[in-house]
Amino acid sequence: MIGIRISSAPQRPVAFVCPHCGVDREGAVVLRRRWLAVGKRPVLPMRAVSPMVQCAVCGQQCGLAILNVPTSSALEAMLHTALRHAIVSVVRAGRGMGPANDEVDRHAVSVMRNAGYMYDRFDLDDDLRTLNDAGMTPHLRPLADELTQHGKQSLLHKLHTLAAIDGPVRPGQREVLLRVGVALGMAATHINGVLAVGDIETQST
Ligand SMILES: [Zn+2]
Repeated sequence: MIGIRISSAPQRPVAFVCPHCGVDREGAVVLRRRWLAVGKRPVLPMRAVSPMVQCAVCGQQCGLAILNVPTSSALEAMLHTALRHAIVSVVRAGRGMGPANDEVDRHAVSVMRNAGYMYDRFDLDDDLRTLNDAGMTPHLRPLADELTQHGKQSLLHKLHTLAAIDGPVRPGQREVLLRVGVALGMAATHINGVLAVGDIETQST
């Protein structure tokens, strides 16, 4: 019996979200080639067909586009870095040339801890030394596709609360908050709305 068969050869290991298992899985990108075969025996190699990602657990294959979906662990790491950058930029813009404010620092640490991350004052000091403001936008941008409107609003609101801990939000901090909103892909009216609500809340306390 002459027919066409497809052979698969694993090319490189990948971690991905398997749509069949529904969770993060190890797998491999597999290169696939058509063969003219007699029975099960390949005789003539034909051109390669599009590579696929194969799950190591369920064995199902799916298109490479799945690799654009961040795994849960990648997403968690992404959020962790983005949050640290945003917090540091808000704290730094509030300090200006002035000294550290204990209450601000404590609140900054609590924002990280409430988000579920291990984080303390030493981590904050490290981040203030090592993370620069220019890094904030590139780290926040991937979250634009991952957070819901409500998630974005909630994140911006938390950062506004942090900025307002030691008095009204300063122009430099407001600028950071605007950059956060823009990086998250929020509409200008939405950003201004969240900041205005924050201003009213902090004035009345
Ligand atoms: Zn699977």
